[in-house]
Amino acid sequence: MRTLSTLPAVREPTLEVDLTAVAANTRRFARTTGGAVMAVVKADGFGHGLADVARTALAAGATWLGVTSLAEAVAVRAAGIDAPVLSWLNPVEVNAMTAWVHRIDLAVPSLLHLEVVVDAGYPVRVHLQLDTGLARDGAAPGDWPALVAAARRAEADGRITVAGVMGHLAMAAEPGHAANEIGRLAFLHGVDLAVRAGLRPSVRHLAATAAALTDPGTHLDLVRIGAGLVGIDPSGTTRLRSALRLTAPVVQVRRVPARVGIGYGHTYVTDRATTLALLPLGYADGLPRVASGRAEVQLAGRRRRVVGVISMDQIVVDLGDEPVEPGAEAVVFGPGDHGEPTVEDWAGWADTIPHEIVTGIGARVRRSVR
Ligand SMILES: *Cc1c(COP(=O)(O)O)cnc(C)c1O
Repeated sequence: MRTLSTLPAVREPTLEVDLTAVAANTRRFARTTGGAVMAVVKADGFGHGLADVARTALAAGATWLGVTSLAEAVAVRAAGIDAPVLSWLNPVEVNAMTAWVHRIDLAVPSLLHLEVVVDAGYPVRVHLQLDTGLARDGAAPGDWPALVAAARRAEADGRITVAGVMGHLAMAAEPGHAANEIGRLAFLHGVDLAVRAGLRPSVRHLAATAAALTDPGTHLDLVRIGAGLVGIDPSGTTRLRSALRLTAPVVQVRRVPARVGIGYGHTYVTDRATTLALLPLGYADGLPRVASGRAEVQLAGRRRRVVGVISMDQIVVDLGDEPVEPGAEAVVFGPGDHGEPTVEDWAGWADTIPHEIVTGIGARVRRSVR
């Protein structure tokens, strides 16, 4: 019989974050784009750690940080980071005093947002946000002249500074799509109207990762890069470095005969005698349940099928006739350099995009940064 001391060292599900990949990706954008680089670190740095990604990107050539909520921007300051920060998605009653105290630029998507910020009485810096084709955040083109006129009046009164104008593209993941040029021209027209109203925004910014990689005409003064920093290229044109590796230890191994149903609902039934390995990761840890029946992990040097339904806390892996020891390490995903599944594979199995996989890893997964 084995004694406990002969078992492998205790491991737990771990998300390894490779900041050298983030640094390399950042340098690539800093080198190849015309404008400055804003590192977009919303959603906890796309699941890679807000402060770690922010510091790494700034050290590698980014000069701005971008987030959605004011709370995320305050978290940047709480981490002791001093770079310019823009927060672009806030309710009307956003706390302008907090923005002013922490030197956080605010995007302003409507006249109402502008009036509330101006009335708050703190001379904050704002970026006027124009909807350039998503019908999502930003001012509709028809509302833009009134927004720039009101912003100009407030600036002339010394109540705000209009530091920037921003837009965003709906179809940038499809280079050459007509909507991209329409959006770009709509943005340039919006900037032109702002300048004619007397504003002098020093940063005009439109491009995110996909446009930055495929359309230099969108670079302007600043590009906002999120996915690209962590190795995701929505345009599918460029090989970037993936920064994540998710591993889990085998907690149990068992041999089962043919015609055994596995997991809830018996969605998979063995067609032969086989060996099963249990991993302590499930949908609560960010493995999408919809990937059940398609997903794979790497274990004992090879890709293995995940069988049965993905549970909240665990998955079962079919090893065939190749047993492994409890404690062996499975690679759920990684950069793919050693044949392991990638984040892109998981996105495909789950009918989603890599962004959703990397931002969805659960809080109880241990993080390990290098
Ligand atoms: C998330 C976001 C970005 C970053 O986009 P990526 O494609 O991840 O680089 C840029 N701009 C806005 C407005 C965003 O919401």
